[in-house]
Amino acid sequence: MNILVFGPNGSGKGTQGAIIQKKYNFSHIESGAIFRLNIGGGTELGKQAKEYIDRGDLVPDDITIPMILDRLKEDDCKGGWILDGFPRNKVQAETLAKALQDEGINLDYVIEITLKREIAKLRITGRRLCVNDNNHPNHIAFEAIKPVEKDGQIVCRVCGGELKTRPDDQDDAAIDKRHDIYYDEDTGTMAAVNFFKSLGGATKVITVDGEPSIDTVSEAIMKELI
Ligand code: AMP
Repeated sequence: MNILVFGPNGSGKGTQGAIIQKKYNFSHIESGAIFRLNIGGGTELGKQAKEYIDRGDLVPDDITIPMILDRLKEDDCKGGWILDGFPRNKVQAETLAKALQDEGINLDYVIEITLKREIAKLRITGRRLCVNDNNHPNHIAFEAIKPVEKDGQIVCRVCGGELKTRPDDQDDAAIDKRHDIYYDEDTGTMAAVNFFKSLGGATKVITVDGEPSIDTVSEAIMKELI
């Protein structure tokens, strides 16, 4: 099964992607996480991507598109994938659709997690990333996923690991820019969402409200997935 998941930064799409990944054991491909891994590892790709990411801009298509299309060709993707964070604009959407068509790969589901922009922004600044697992949700403002305290430090509620913030999550202008791109229906991510929603055919669209708890959103998605 192949799935695209869309949602503004802060909507919980990474968390939901990880839950789906765990249940079905698909490959969970997160474009942002691939970039962060490369930045952490000091690779050439990481060096090229960093300045764009820090500003909240998209990394240029000539870097991002081949990175993702190559990733989808790897062996672990043969059994199904969930792609999160890509496509992020209309060009990426059209290129992906054509690549899938050329390779004879079906897109089974498009999941769209909706969330008002003000709420998405509030969620971003309080989230904390676990250094052991990118998909351990921690947020300083939500009781259900609050980090825990250990030896005077706040640590991951799931594994006790160290917590970090993303620089682009603490920068107001970078958050606004990411949301400008997401909610842009002409050429931005909403244009990509609408492009895939209008494809029809065998692709099923699942639209869920991202405001309730992680479990409620997850249940709403799971009951639509076969
Ligand atoms: P995310 O983890 O999805 O919030 O992505 C973090 C950052 O990585 C974004 O703000 C972009 O700078 C970059 N990025 C992630 N996915 C893409 C993409 N599909 N196209 C261009 N840049 C991307």
